[in-house]
Amino acid sequence: MSALAKNYNRRKIAFKRGKGSFLFSTNGKKYLDFVQGIAVNSLGHANSYLIRAINNQAKKVWHISNAFIIQEGEKLAKRLTQKTFADYVIFQNSGTEATEASIKVARRYFYSIGKPKKNIILCIKNSFHGRTIAAINASGSKKMQEGFGPKVSGFDHFKFGNLNSLKRSIKKNTAAIMVETIMGEGGIKVHSNIFLKKLRKICNQKKILLILDEVQCGIGRTGKFFAFEYAKVKPDIVPIAKGIGGGFPLGAVLMTKKVASGMIPGTHGTTNGGNPLAMSVGNAVLDQIFKKKFLKNLQKVSKYFHNELNKIKNDYPKLIKEVRGVGLLIGLQLFNDPTKFIKKLEDNKLLTIRSGENTIRILPPLNVKKSEITIAVKIIRKVCKKF
Ligand SMILES: *Cc1c(COP(=O)(O)O)cnc(C)c1O
Repeated sequence: MSALAKNYNRRKIAFKRGKGSFLFSTNGKKYLDFVQGIAVNSLGHANSYLIRAINNQAKKVWHISNAFIIQEGEKLAKRLTQKTFADYVIFQNSGTEATEASIKVARRYFYSIGKPKKNIILCIKNSFHGRTIAAINASGSKKMQEGFGPKVSGFDHFKFGNLNSLKRSIKKNTAAIMVETIMGEGGIKVHSNIFLKKLRKICNQKKILLILDEVQCGIGRTGKFFAFEYAKVKPDIVPIAKGIGGGFPLGAVLMTKKVASGMIPGTHGTTNGGNPLAMSVGNAVLDQIFKKKFLKNLQKVSKYFHNELNKIKNDYPKLIKEVRGVGLLIGLQLFNDPTKFIKKLEDNKLLTIRSGENTIRILPPLNVKKSEITIAVKIIRKVCKKF
């Protein structure tokens, strides 16, 4: 009997090792892993470059404290700001810490300019920003909040894609709008570029901050370093996590100089966040993703994947409703509950994971080979045929 609490309904499968896009189970089977720890292993399993980076650092120093200068973190922060809208970075350990810290940065900014009552964060109903008490309240999901009351105040909600609902929800005390650039847990729901542009415009007009949660869709996953680059908008605050650690727990908040002005010494901290081990892995992940052709190649192979999935959709129009997503953040939306379909894919050695709205999430590593996508396409087609 497992001594783990039962807050997960785990699949009956365990793995002894992985290599790139593949996982090898304890009972000797080889799986194509298009979950990759939910968009975390950006360079796949057991990547030799990451192994070298973490081993080198492990021999030097693992953890110090943010009371001292951590040079690996200085380097990673500098690289993140040089390549993006951001001027400053705060490191954390996870996505939910990064979204919480984003909320703190937004509130603290208004506090620091003498508007402490401007502290409401406006989010999308049934979105996903993590599992801490603040994050489940930000997400506005009844299911996630059930049994974890009292409700935390300071969050308002509007409906996905509904500008009128958004405009109606903005009040005098709204400090920030926080949305996932692409809604990962909610069914790989993509905002139109026009919507994201309007969001930025409204924030400018109302003098409120724009927080774009890129924990799942960021760090190259969509074919751009950040998903919002497609819409050519500039956020004020961006929480990241998942992909930046390549499998090592790492989160961060990126922010502009303006909003960072409220974060004076003593306002926020973390014991483990930004430790040398995590920072070395983060730097190694960026070494790969920042390579010249990396994202171009990702765009190319993901285009092939989307085309092939759309062909399957056209061949099985009663089974597949929509192919969603951008780059390698892919959702295959079925008309019905996808649990059985996901199991059939697993039986055929392809691992995927469900998302909201009857959607199957397909998350290959960012360095996936075209030939591996071809294997996945064949398996999906085979399962459709027999379904
Ligand atoms: C996964 C996720 C989080 C939470 O990250 P954790 O590392 O699980 O805490 C927050 N926001 C988004 C958009 C996510 O996909």
